[in-house]
Amino acid sequence: MPEEANSRLLKELKFQLAVTRAMLGTLDLDQVLYIILSGITHGEGLGFNRAFLFLSDEGRRELKASTAVGPASDEEAHRIWEDMESQRLDLPTLLDAYETSRRDTRTRNLAQRLAGFSMPLSASAPPMTEKSEEVPVQAIVARCAGDKKAFHSNTIKAAYHPPPAAGETVVHFARLAAVPLMLGEEVIGVILADNLYDRKNVDEDKVRGLTTLANLAAIAIERARLHRRIQEMASLDGLTGVANRRHYEKRLEQEIARARRTGRALSLMVFDIDNFKNCNDSHGHECGDLVLKDLASFLRARVRAEDLVARYGGEEFVVLLTGGASGNEAYQVADKLRQYIASQSLGGRPAGEITVSVGAATLGPEDVEGGLLFRLADQALYQAKQQGRNRAVMAQPE
Ligand code: GH3
Ligand code: MG
Ligand code: MG
Repeated sequence: MPEEANSRLLKELKFQLAVTRAMLGTLDLDQVLYIILSGITHGEGLGFNRAFLFLSDEGRRELKASTAVGPASDEEAHRIWEDMESQRLDLPTLLDAYETSRRDTRTRNLAQRLAGFSMPLSASAPPMTEKSEEVPVQAIVARCAGDKKAFHSNTIKAAYHPPPAAGETVVHFARLAAVPLMLGEEVIGVILADNLYDRKNVDEDKVRGLTTLANLAAIAIERARLHRRIQEMASLDGLTGVANRRHYEKRLEQEIARARRTGRALSLMVFDIDNFKNCNDSHGHECGDLVLKDLASFLRARVRAEDLVARYGGEEFVVLLTGGASGNEAYQVADKLRQYIASQSLGGRPAGEITVSVGAATLGPEDVEGGLLFRLADQALYQAKQQGRNRAVMAQPE
């Protein structure tokens, strides 16, 4: 093998190895995407001016713009090249720089311009010839996804016209290559790379490099997605779909730290269904399960997104109010929830049949501590039961 070809092959192998190692070194999906696109755009990698990633949603019906790396304008292109020259950012350093780049507005600009991109995964590609003046970029993506193979052209120009409401300008593409992200026979995304700024032709070598990278990238993306899904599943209660106790304990620690940092109070409510044993005994366990599901979704629907609803155990639920509510406000929320539940039908039982008792407690940032907060709320719940059920009781500070 001629020496030149030999050293080129060695360089390519080194690059693929660096990117693979970086991609498999993290389970964070965003970081994986950053590494893929950095490898495509870095001079020691494939050296494209820009790279875009379109990913299928988990239902696999739509392709959406997910990440982009590269300058958002000609001007920016030059500035970035100058920066890279002066900083001599080598590929391993760049791959490690995810945390810094995340805060870099320049990488966000380009992604922002494609934020509205979405197309059906099965869209058929409109006809295009090398003479086409300009095609919608969707046509390139559709062709690549439909054929399940790489596509490149140095003559076809493409453009993305954002929806008018988005207020973004048109994004142009030239000297471009698109490769599918394949998982077995299934297309999970498309990578699009181009040389809009330096107008360098895309050759077969680059397309081959891009294809190898895409094959590895698909595996790394799926791996990160699976990890994310497992994490989600491990923190949810199987019956009701709200957080489980383990997740609650974790969030509680985080919220306590935040309350101390921001000087805000933290409130906890503990809900327990009244005479639930009777419900199970009279109408069956299935009916009881439906009651639990309904209760969980009522609670979830009636507190703010940043508040946590969790199933603490059998028929006990906790709600953590993270917005800094005062004790008085927490009591109002607890009692409103209690009244609402008493006015609804749960598990198909007539409205008013299923009621709950609530114990609530609020601690200021200087006293807040997880064990104490729960103990206070639980004691208040006990009082609510003692006082006849279907009521909310606020814990008095010790
Ligand atoms: P109280 O008003 O004092 O809370 O009375 P209670 O009957 O609700 O209290 P107790 O703690 O004695 O009973 C709780 C019941 O909750 C007993 C148990 O069968 C039921 N339970 C716990 N988990 C589940 C579940 O996942 N599904 C169903 N259907 N029932 C459950
Ligand atoms: Mg109970
Ligand atoms: Mg009960």
